Amino acid sequence: MSTEKIAQLNRLSENMAFEPDGDVPLQSPPACAEAHTDPAGVVYQAAAGGRKVKLLKTLLTSACERDCFYCPFRAGRDFRRETLKPEELSAAFISMQRANVVEGLFLSSGIAAGGMKTQDRLIESAEILRHKYQYRGYLHLKIMPGAERDQVLRAMQLADRISINLEAPNETRLGNLAPHKNFWEELLTPLRWAEEIRQSLPGYLGWSGRWPSLTTQFVVGAVGENDLELLATSEFLFARLRLARTYFSAFNPVADTPLENLKAENPIRQLRLYQASFLLRDYGFSLEDFAFNASGLLPLDSDPKKAWAQANLSSQPVEINRAERWQLLRIPGIGPKSADALIDARRKNPIQQPGDLQRLGIAWKKAAPFILLEGRRPAYQPALW
Ligand code: SF4
Repeated sequence: MSTEKIAQLNRLSENMAFEPDGDVPLQSPPACAEAHTDPAGVVYQAAAGGRKVKLLKTLLTSACERDCFYCPFRAGRDFRRETLKPEELSAAFISMQRANVVEGLFLSSGIAAGGMKTQDRLIESAEILRHKYQYRGYLHLKIMPGAERDQVLRAMQLADRISINLEAPNETRLGNLAPHKNFWEELLTPLRWAEEIRQSLPGYLGWSGRWPSLTTQFVVGAVGENDLELLATSEFLFARLRLARTYFSAFNPVADTPLENLKAENPIRQLRLYQASFLLRDYGFSLEDFAFNASGLLPLDSDPKKAWAQANLSSQPVEINRAERWQLLRIPGIGPKSADALIDARRKNPIQQPGDLQRLGIAWKKAAPFILLEGRRPAYQPALW
């Protein structure tokens, strides 16, 4: 593989930081999913066992015929466009992977000659990787607006994750963000196809023996959408289409785009949306549990789980030794894994000391104001900040 093709791949990767694909812990600093991005678009994604996977995020082409208002790749914007053929992209990626520069691939593209043709090239790249190069590593494939159902199925047979960015929580907001994208037909329908395929063909699984996970992303803060809208759509997607994640990307203006004079969105808002979305997905929360203000926004100054606990548990603490799992999940500092560990542990011996909780992985200081241990409020030093 020529060094020019690898250099081209690196240039295509440089602008991909706006596409998250990783883990944002509930208490993370207000940053996007990438903990660290190297030059050349290599990001580190959390994997099982706390290991970090080096993921190359790149495009087949940075040329695009669409004109989404927020996007650096929109048609007509003046910058040097790069394009690789599927064989070139696959060969360049494989040489990086074999040199241990990267371990996985997130592949997207600008749209050239329509969504279907672009999707064909993405699928062809994946086919070459899986069949010609016998690549067995992580592969995230983007589904293009305008892709057909059979293309979604083929992408699902090749990838570990597929994603379709809704960009906005509903059709009206999308109209102000990307007026030539069709919310229902081009974006939501392929997400529904993917879930229908998973449901209707449970015996026919993807290349790795299981169907890929499904995610989407929203641009936050560009067109006046509120948190209630974003979280209502997320709740629908988790419950009805079994999305693994909804990603939130705080808007940042890009020069020479129609939104270049808008203010960047506060990244704390992005963090609150992640926190609330995890509560909806994994903790049994519903929209009514969040303290939206009159404009439908979450408070920026407190995390939504703590705010709920302060309003509901301060005067009615939860007895750790008898609470049901859903009640444990309402306590700050206790997550799904630590709730299960706690239930397991208390079957053997009642939990009596803060040290018992710490040993189970529970953030004891966060939980302390909201719990009872064998009927007693534990003594603790309230945090100053
Ligand atoms: S279709 Fe995608 S790449 Fe093209 S302008 Fe819109 S967001 Fe950017």
